[in-house]
Amino acid sequence: MSAPTPARSVAVPAISPRLLAVALLAVGLLLMLAYLVAFDQGAVSQSGMYLHELMHDGRHLLGVPCH
Ligand SMILES: [Zn+2]
Repeated sequence: MSAPTPARSVAVPAISPRLLAVALLAVGLLLMLAYLVAFDQGAVSQSGMYLHELMHDGRHLLGVPCH
């Protein structure tokens, strides 16, 4: 019978790198959507006010100043 091996402390990340990447991507997409709904006045959508008009009802629904 061999002697018991001492316990090693292994650093285990609290969150997996894959989950962290997915979470950061989701946060980025949500921030971009929030910007488009609330603040875009045609600066992002280079084709005129297409995105502004697309998000127009959501903007008024959230009470964001528009026009
Ligand atoms: Zn409006």
